Amino acid sequence: MDGFKPVIGLEIHVELKTETGMFCQCKVGQFGAEPNTHVCPVCLGLPGALPVPNKKAIEWTIKIGKALNCRINLHTKFDRKHYSYPDLPKGYQISQYDEPIAVGGQVILNGKTFRIHRVHLEEDTGKLIHLGEDTLVDFNRSGTPLVEIVTEPDFDNSDDVKKFLEELHTIIRCLDVSDADMDKGSMRMEPNISLRIMNHESRIKNKEIKLPKYKVEVKNINSFKFVKQAIDYELERQKEILERGETPVQETRGFDEKKAITYSQRSKEEAHDYRYFPEPDIPPLTFSNEYIDSITVPELPGQRMKRFVETMHLKEQDAFILTREKQNADYFETVISKLKSSHSNLNLKTQNLEQLIANFIINKKISIDLPIDEFIKKTIELQTPKETDENALRSAIDNVIKNNQKVADQYRQGKTNALMFLVGQVMKEMKGKAEAKVVISRLTEILK
Ligand code: ZN
Ligand code: MN
Repeated sequence: MDGFKPVIGLEIHVELKTETGMFCQCKVGQFGAEPNTHVCPVCLGLPGALPVPNKKAIEWTIKIGKALNCRINLHTKFDRKHYSYPDLPKGYQISQYDEPIAVGGQVILNGKTFRIHRVHLEEDTGKLIHLGEDTLVDFNRSGTPLVEIVTEPDFDNSDDVKKFLEELHTIIRCLDVSDADMDKGSMRMEPNISLRIMNHESRIKNKEIKLPKYKVEVKNINSFKFVKQAIDYELERQKEILERGETPVQETRGFDEKKAITYSQRSKEEAHDYRYFPEPDIPPLTFSNEYIDSITVPELPGQRMKRFVETMHLKEQDAFILTREKQNADYFETVISKLKSSHSNLNLKTQNLEQLIANFIINKKISIDLPIDEFIKKTIELQTPKETDENALRSAIDNVIKNNQKVADQYRQGKTNALMFLVGQVMKEMKGKAEAKVVISRLTEILK
């Protein structure tokens, strides 16, 4: 990107896994259900239906805001965002405009700060299903609580974007407020991308002189890999246009997963096109400080990883892997504490119990699908030195040599790797009840 600096921001939509809808009592999370079987006058936008906000959804949005180090607004309201599309039955979406629930946060990753502009709450739309010539609408998803997270345009490359999104995904899952399952569309991502022209002077001062006059948004991407591909494609496309002395069109583009390219969809709306105004059917909300304080955030994956490294002396990479899913990290910590409390006399050959268990889990030496007590039993088996029955070993070795005279001779003539074959045969005779170290030393003695 010589002469240019990428300017990338993100919008992320996350469906909350509340029991019921954002403004109605319909059951949400009905992915794959018979179309239009979980609908009511409110989420179908029938005349006269009145929305009632879901308290849990508000609480969880505050939780997300706090986890992203945002300021929570004590005064917030819902607004109507108007646009016409077949998946939007009312002709407007209830969203939040100028008083979102949370603002001004940040996420720090590998020493880089990525600012969060805002976190607000809205309702999801229905889903269009294209069948041949027809387009059908399924409103089951309509009215599902939807959190929108908007970052500042703080990214200048697609790798940082991918890392950020992976971290955000992990945080949301840790908060237990959404499945954030991208295959089901419960986490959807929209990067907006432009290029700043850097002139000679600005490059020296590392300051941007010319602000981009345009912004391209790529809609509704459902995998981290595709977000990265879409950004890389856009950066190249925009660079070519700028190098011709032209300005890319401000627009919304789609992403073609098969070709890994973006394509023009429509010119980008400005906020005033939506004719936002306060939702008259829902009074504004005022929160007390006590209420905000009562909504707590658990230890987040990044913090937990840091604790694993600092207090347990785990390798950073291993601590990272273990903390990606909360249930894995919980499992790991339970195993450690149980082992420490009830098996303090465990003959541990390693100096670091935590790293040993981490290795077992990461190398899948013992499955974490097992009940914790089973896992502990296997750990102890693996760590207890095997008693080798010397008599049984002696006869096993004699048998193996007798039955494999040729190989034994090859070894005696200097073909050293013939030994491992014989060791394998002895271990087989011993049905694994022998320590490999002992087998090797006895076997070489006898062969000599
Ligand atoms: Zn409903
Ligand atoms: Mn939105």
